[in-house]
This record gives sequence, structure tokens and C-alpha cells, in this order.
Amino acid sequence: MKKIFSTIFVLFFLILPGFAGEETPFVFEDFIEGDMPPVVDGRIVDSYLPDQTSQTKYIRINFHFMLDDTGNGNFTETDNGCYLPSDPLSVQHTGYWYSRKVINMANYRLYDNKQMNLLPGNNTPVLNTRYRYVLKGVYFHRNSQLCQFTLSSGYGSTLNNTYGEDLGEAINIFFTQKLPTSNAAGFAVMSGNRYVVMHAAWEGYCTNFTNGYGLWVVAGALNHEIGHNLSLYHTMRLNYGPCSWSWDDYCDDTPTRQEAYDITLVDPCCGWNGGNNPNCSNNLMDYSGSHALTPDQIARVHYCLVNSMCNYWTYSYSDFDINGNMTSTIVIKPGEDIILDGSPAVTEDDKYFVSVQKSDKWFNRYGTEHMRWLTAQEVTQIGAFDIRNFCDGELTLEEGCYYRVKLAVESWHEKTLLIYISGALEDRVPVMTSNALPYGVAEASSVYSAGGYDYNAWKAFDGEDQSGGGNWTMWISQYQSPYQSQWVSYEFEVPTYAAGYYILPELGYCEDRAPKNWRLEGFNGNCWMNLDEQENILINQDWTSAGLDFPIDVPRLYQKYRLKVKEVNGSEVVSVRRLKLKGPSPADMVPIMESNNLPTGVAQASSIYLSNTAYDAWKAFDGDDESSSSWTMWISNPAFPFVSEWLSFQLPSDCYVTGYFILPQLDGLSDRAPKTWNFEAWNGSTWVVLDQQTNITWGTAGKTFQLQDPGSYDKYRLVVTQVHGSDVVSIRQLKLLGNPVD
Ligand SMILES: [Zn+2]
Repeated sequence: MKKIFSTIFVLFFLILPGFAGEETPFVFEDFIEGDMPPVVDGRIVDSYLPDQTSQTKYIRINFHFMLDDTGNGNFTETDNGCYLPSDPLSVQHTGYWYSRKVINMANYRLYDNKQMNLLPGNNTPVLNTRYRYVLKGVYFHRNSQLCQFTLSSGYGSTLNNTYGEDLGEAINIFFTQKLPTSNAAGFAVMSGNRYVVMHAAWEGYCTNFTNGYGLWVVAGALNHEIGHNLSLYHTMRLNYGPCSWSWDDYCDDTPTRQEAYDITLVDPCCGWNGGNNPNCSNNLMDYSGSHALTPDQIARVHYCLVNSMCNYWTYSYSDFDINGNMTSTIVIKPGEDIILDGSPAVTEDDKYFVSVQKSDKWFNRYGTEHMRWLTAQEVTQIGAFDIRNFCDGELTLEEGCYYRVKLAVESWHEKTLLIYISGALEDRVPVMTSNALPYGVAEASSVYSAGGYDYNAWKAFDGEDQSGGGNWTMWISQYQSPYQSQWVSYEFEVPTYAAGYYILPELGYCEDRAPKNWRLEGFNGNCWMNLDEQENILINQDWTSAGLDFPIDVPRLYQKYRLKVKEVNGSEVVSVRRLKLKGPSPADMVPIMESNNLPTGVAQASSIYLSNTAYDAWKAFDGDDESSSSWTMWISNPAFPFVSEWLSFQLPSDCYVTGYFILPQLDGLSDRAPKTWNFEAWNGSTWVVLDQQTNITWGTAGKTFQLQDPGSYDKYRLVVTQVHGSDVVSIRQLKLLGNPVD
């Protein structure tokens, strides 16, 4: 790990259309300290390049409008502040409206990545940036001392320290008033609690009232400044603005000014609107107003988000991705309304359509392709949705089923899909008898010991739910006064979905040890992601005589979870009698097949009995579990002696299969049942053996086999090398048990 200390200047000059005048460089200074591992010479390794399967990362953003003491000089809560009485839109264009517009436009510009101009003729890939913003809060501050942009050192940090919200978990954007003598500018920090100071956006709005409100420019400037927050340097300019011939931005695929000039004999550092000239830089991190980002730049952003800004990530069902990607998953319970939070980043003219999908299988946010959406209905107002009212009022939510609700938003001629899941969940943690048995690992930040008895981490996972009664099988943290944050964690053997969790503190005695403020977190390999947060859960009010269930809005595959208790109800220790991590049990990833390739996926076999399609491969995936009477099964062609036959299924997308279920033909012809076999997955170039079984005998039922070393693959097969005496193998049902992969 290389620690880089540098003093850099980050400043962006923004010339709003309608603003006359020469660009006047200011110099601000900001002292930056940052960690940049694992990099070579400051460069990000390619493993952070996003591809089609990379998760889009949503970043929380707070907007702050700086007004003077009398409430003038910026957008307000109730109008646009620039008093254009002839225009009725003045009162509609509040700071809230403007915030949504800017976020929406900024996200659109991130989506609309462009080919870089330089070097001419380059074929540098144009990747989906795969990061977007979610507006978390909009604030208005009346302070004549701080409302106007100044050059003085420490102005930005003063703003952030005074008014910043969710420090370290949201980027705070301060919209300040224009300095009388200046053009527009911005300011951003590259480490610590991230914030941005924007300058003169409101003046640009008022000046461009009939011409797009200056949104395009402000959104571009915002993306540039947030680019600095996300570790991007200027590509050609020094950090205080002027162009350099040899500036190194730590990205190998952005040429220097000199390199471009040597080829084109045109100075590529062209300034505002220069991006329209093919010999000029159109990079977001120059001052052109264009927004091309190269793969290395995007990789730096993702590296930064994963390694030092994971607490800024969020998932919000009011946010959306203009690209039309799925953006969010929340848990709903039967009967629960869907509430949109009132600040969707869409225009007021958008139309919303809601439709519902139902399945008895768990699915990830992308769902299963073959499932049909029930009727879409137009929604005219954002607010509380009772999804039972959709589908012509005939939808009955059933326990044990999973539902997705799609909210399509017509905006930017794209649609956005949002998803909701419901269903029965079960504790995925086994009943633990020690910190590592029967499997997985329980840990805690500290353990209380008294009288030779340890209140170990695993005692929160011991399957024991009985509160009170002098029963002390629970985790208790070490005594410390005053109480400070403590955690208990469980690591699964394989990545596992948790879509909810249950906490039972010690109740009825020592209740002050019950958690009050906490987070449930999942470890992404680099940092702990916030999956759920609860505050002010109080004894005798919320904690009464029973444990409580909490949903995880965006279930993802994590191997390790922890409950981080930041505050308790008065004690110096926290005690947790039971923690359940609840998720869907692994389900058959294969759809119910109607042929070898319908509705989706591909069933194949090494051979079919006498070429009779009645015993085709897909018959083992037809959902028919009946162990007698029917002949819907795969049967291989007779071969004596029996050598080897296989049955495979190609899934429409990668699935994390943790086990499989085989039901042979067991009624009278059990000599056809498999005896010895391999279970394998195709990794793109070769078959990987995931499980081997020998000399398996059968009774009257099928059997489930767990994989010791599962992984994500889209094609699996069963290779049978011995049967119980017959010259064919017959498989009535083969299930691939697991979870879809995000
Ligand atoms: Zn800049």
C-alpha cells in the first residue's frame, strides 16, 4: 500500500452561457491526503474496469442552497428566487425542483458517455460509467457570512463542517452565490468527507430562464467536481487550472497535451466548448464542458468507490437509472404499501406505470426472463401504492411467494424499472455449537466473561430463542464505560442472500443492554456495506417481550454479515440473545421447461432412449416430481456395458448453485438409477468438477447433494458413470439449487 501525500489544487471554471467575460483564474488551495492501494505508480489496476455484470454504484448526494440572511440570492423552498413574476413557473421551480432536475441531468450525462477525441482516430472503448447519483436531501441555509463564494482558504471546509449532512456517507454539494468579480467556478476535495462547492448555478438559471435553465452546464460542472471527489485528476490542466504539456492524471489512456499536439499540431487544451473540435479534449476532467470518460478514469472511480467510499453507496427506490437498468430492490410484506419518497428524480411530466410479477421462486433483481409481467397500469400520482390495487384489483399477496413490482418511468425516452420482493424467509445460519461448528464462523468485537462463563459470539446463533428465565445463552460484549460501538458477525461458507434479519435482545431483565442504534452490514471483500440502519429502538416501546424483524431492502450475495450496535438502551454492554440472518432457501434455478429450449435455457443430453423424444433431456426439467406412474423423464440410449451418459442445463444467466437434487426413476426400474457420478460446471473453457458421488443407493425419494466449493456458472451437467445394473440411466428430475447472481 502506497500512501500518497500531495498538495493539490482543485478548481473548475465554469462559464455559463449568458455570462460574458474572460475566464479569470482563481487559485484555491486544498490539502489532500489519500490512500490509493493497490496501485502501481498511482495507477488503478484493470480489475476495476466495469463490465456488463458490474454493479452500478449509487452515490448519496445532498444539495445545499446558500441564501443570505433575508432569504435572497438563491433558490428557496417555495420559488426560484430570481423573481420573474411574469412567469408562472417561478413558484414551481423551487430548490427541490431544481435539485431533481440537476441530478437527473447529471445522471443522464453519466449515462451518455462519449468517445474521447484524443488521440485522433483512437478506439478507446466507451464504457458505461456505472455510477449514478441519488438525491438524499435538499437544504436551505440563510447566512450572509457564508452564502457568497469566496477565495479564502477554508471556505469550503467551513461550509461542510457547518452545514454538511451525513458526513462521510453523502457528498454535500453547496450551491453558493456568485462572486461579483468572477466567472463561475467550483471546488472539490479528493479525500476525507467529500463535498463540492458550486458557484453561480442559480445566476445561470435566472439568466437562462428561457433556454434550458443552464442545467446542462451545471450538470456537467457537477459531474466534473464529483469526479474529483471520486479521485479523478484533470487530464490536461494543472489542478489549479492552466494547461500543462505533461500533466499526469494517473490514467494511461488519456494522452497528454504534448502527445496530442505532436500528432495534430493543434493545441488540444481548447477550453469551453472546445470538445466540439475533434482535435480538442472533450474529457469530463478538462474545462471543455464535454463529458467523455475513459476506461482508466472509470476504473479509478470504481476503485475509489469500492475502497474508500463504500459508505456513500445507497439504493433508493426513488432513484432511477436513465439507462433503463434495474436500480433497486425493496422488501414488501403482504398487505404493505409501496411508498415512494416524494422526490423521484424525474420530471413532473413523466408517466409512471406499475406492473407486478409473481413467482414461487426467489429471483434476483433481474428476475427470470420467462416470467410475464402482469398488466401494467398507469399511475398518476407518486405516493402510497397498494399493489393489491394493481392487476385490476385481483392481486392477492401470498406468503411464500416472491413479487416484483416494476415502476416504469417515461423519461428521456427510456424506462426505469424498480423491483420489490416479498416472500417467506428462513434463518440461513445453522444452529451453532461453537464459533465454527457446524459450519461458518461467528465472531464478535469483544466478549463478556464472568465466573468462568464466556458470552461468546456463537451464542447469538445457537438456535435458542427463549428470553428471560435466567437463561444466559447469548452474546454479551465486554464492559466499557461509556459504551462504544460493538459488533457480532457471522460468515457463511458460501455467499448467501439475507433479505431480512431478526434480533432478540435480552428482555425482561437487563433490558438496558438491548440495541438502540445499529447497522446491519455485509462485507463486499473490501469494506462493510450498510444494508440496514435502525435508530432509536427503545425498550418498553419497541422492544417489549419479543424480538423484532427488519427487512434488508437490497439483498445481495454476501458471505459475511455483521450487526454493528452503535448505541444501547443505557447499559455499558450490548447483549444479543439471537440474531437470525433470514433469506430465501436455495431454489431450483431451472425454469419449468416445455421443450429443450423453452421458455428459456437449453437442456441437453448425451443420448436419448431409442431417439424417442418422449424421453428427451428437458423431461428431467419439466417440474414433474411425481415418483410413480408418469413417464416424464430423461432416459439415455441403451449401451451395454453402461459407460457414461450426461445431462446438462444451460441457464439464461449465471447462477450461484450450492447444491442439486436428483430424483431417479425409482418405481420398479431402480436399476436405472445413477450410482456414481460427477456434478460439473462449465467455466467457459473446461468442465469443472464441483461434486463427486460414488456408490449412492436410493430408497423411494430423491436426494439433495450440497456442493463443497460452489461458484457462479451458467451451465451445469451431471455425468453418470455407473448405474445400478441397467444399460440406461433415467432421471425423473434434476434441480439446480441456488440463487441468481446480481
Ligand atoms: Zn477540476
